[in-house]
Amino acid sequence: MYAEVIVDVAHSDVDKIFDYACGENIAAGMRVAVPFGNGVTTGFVMRVKEKTDVPPEKLKKILRAEEDFPALTKESLLLAGKIAARYRVPMALTLRLFLPAEMRTGKVGERYRTVCRLSGQLPPIPPRAEKQLALVAFLEENGEADSALLREKFGGALKALEEKGAVIAERRRVFRNPYTGDAGEAPAHALTPAQLRAVDTVHTTDKTVSLLHGVTGSGKTEVYLSLIADVLKEGKTAIFLVPEISLTPQMLFQLRARFGSKAAILHSGLSAGERFDEWMRLREGDARIAIGARSAIFAPVENVGIIVIDEEHDGSYLSESSPRYNTFEVARLRAVYNGCKLVLGSATPSVETYRRARTGEFELITLPDRINARPMPEVHIVDMRREVRRGNPSAFSAELRERLKHCLDEGNQAILFLNRRGYSQTVICRDCGYVAKCENCDVSLTYHSEEDCLKCHYCGARYKMLSACPQCGGKHIGYVGTGTQRVVTELKKLYPAARILRMDMDTTGGKEGHFRILKEFSARKADILVGTQMVAKGHDFPQVTLVGILDADMSLHFPDYRSGERTFQLVTQVAGRSGRASDAGEVVLQTYDPDNYILRFAAAYDYEGFYAHEIAMREATMFPPFARIVRVMVTGDEEGETLEALRAVYSKLQSLYAARPEAFLFFNRMHAPIKRIQNKFRYQVLMRLAGGGELLQEIYAVCAEEKYKNVLIYVEENPGNLS
Ligand code: ADP
Ligand code: ZN
Repeated sequence: MYAEVIVDVAHSDVDKIFDYACGENIAAGMRVAVPFGNGVTTGFVMRVKEKTDVPPEKLKKILRAEEDFPALTKESLLLAGKIAARYRVPMALTLRLFLPAEMRTGKVGERYRTVCRLSGQLPPIPPRAEKQLALVAFLEENGEADSALLREKFGGALKALEEKGAVIAERRRVFRNPYTGDAGEAPAHALTPAQLRAVDTVHTTDKTVSLLHGVTGSGKTEVYLSLIADVLKEGKTAIFLVPEISLTPQMLFQLRARFGSKAAILHSGLSAGERFDEWMRLREGDARIAIGARSAIFAPVENVGIIVIDEEHDGSYLSESSPRYNTFEVARLRAVYNGCKLVLGSATPSVETYRRARTGEFELITLPDRINARPMPEVHIVDMRREVRRGNPSAFSAELRERLKHCLDEGNQAILFLNRRGYSQTVICRDCGYVAKCENCDVSLTYHSEEDCLKCHYCGARYKMLSACPQCGGKHIGYVGTGTQRVVTELKKLYPAARILRMDMDTTGGKEGHFRILKEFSARKADILVGTQMVAKGHDFPQVTLVGILDADMSLHFPDYRSGERTFQLVTQVAGRSGRASDAGEVVLQTYDPDNYILRFAAAYDYEGFYAHEIAMREATMFPPFARIVRVMVTGDEEGETLEALRAVYSKLQSLYAARPEAFLFFNRMHAPIKRIQNKFRYQVLMRLAGGGELLQEIYAVCAEEKYKNVLIYVEENPGNLS
């Protein structure tokens, strides 16, 4: 027998099939050790066959199988090939996506325990052997028990009974369970007519993709759970994606409460061992629902019955490291392969997704009302320019202060949302305008008052806080902007009795960071939660009746065609945290641009209005979804070599441009907006294409051709971040 093997080396030079001789024990999908070059490397068996063209004297043999089962399913092998072709990356890279990192590094062992029970044949035991009798009685009462426990309790009696054949010992695989004890109860609600209709439409539509557009609090989760329960009943499996799993503990508890150990969770916050075990439970079919962030789309489940992508508009579904895959595209490939449905859910679908639903490519399902017809919280827009004119320099308008006091007096909870993190954004010299920047990254530094230092949010470098300006020697060092810390400090002065929790990148370190803060808030151990983007996610805190958005315009003025869309989404999502239970909620939205149409539509919960406005503008200016933004990034340690690579790529791209100028709406090379990150020089060729398809593939091909030792060249499509 012969095996076609892809070696686990992510380099285009060895990105091809190698034939090896193998025994009967080798099957497609297995990881194997093979002789390669002068050493031994791991490989993936793509196919096993009867014949090979490789002459016998050149043919090497597979040394061993790394596991005794195929780690990769048939579907994984097929998909890895498609993804590699689509994004022009070596197969080894795409195959790795389907495996837990722990498997490749080989650092995690499986755990076993030995369990003992009575065999049913009980030879006579002499009355003197008290321990043996006691052990038998113990097992009669308990059914089975751990051998370690029995040895501890009854000593040598265990061995004696085993030898007599009275007790049978059995080795069992133990799975580390990352979330013991916390699964409370989550009774399945009887679905509302709107929810029933949604479930039914997903099942019966002839379209593969459905968009579930439901306002915040409309019960989308219940629809997903019901769909999942349906496919489990048919013996199938499910994949459920959420943007950032560590931010949605409630969702996890709900899933575990409903589906118990049938649900497996894949996320980076788990320990290596836990993650590996969760993956194994899915691979072995013990668990049949894979839940996780973006990468869970590669879960090793077979016979998939449904795929759900919750909060489909979220930027985290676009991979920012190679391969830069789009989760939706992979999900659709899996849905088509399995002949199952793919559900995208959101209260604020991306403009692109919504257009595809409106044009009939996707099934559009709407849940226009909150559960039990609870009203959407009323949004009060506050003009911050007037506050400044009135001589109020604080982050809190008079209106917000008043409503906050009322909320606290009533014994309710409030969430205050800020668009960024840190005490103050930027340190500036008020005399000459000097801004403190990172030496490695060319971005401005952020002051952190707890440690009294400046930090770079791109590379983590720390600098001493300035006492004088390095440029002019001036002593008037000041800050621009407000951060969560300053808000907390101000809050403590305004409401000394209030218990305040802060949630941002600085307070959520470690595996339990988010869980801890959200749990405390959920358990009413705090009255006010102050946070950045993280508090906007789909949390369900029934006692929250006030949401304050402190700086609604922060994201409006980003130099990005999606800044309007992002702002709309953010405001809607944050506002949706208010008034989810019986008490009506309200939102205070502070802005320096109160007539901005995006904020107006968001305050009125008018998605349709926002969409109509936005799509017309995108069409007029030819931005996605009417065009495709493609960025070729060239980054390297050394400026000369990086520039050389840039010139080479640029000249080839230029020939593409010259051959078909009408296909390009924009074409230019330049410095990336951030010229250096972590000491790497960054250049880009920025393009806007009228179409996509073939031309896009040619661009990928050009970039794959160029090979420099210390320069990385990659393609980004409609990147989420153009810094
Ligand atoms: P969404 O995900 O659309 O924001 P959720 O799924 O979080 O909404 O549902 C909002 C609230 O309504 C939750 O507290 C949920 O338990 C409750 N809920 C959902 N469906 C029903 C139902 N059919 N009957 C009663 N309550 C429901
Ligand atoms: Zn830096």
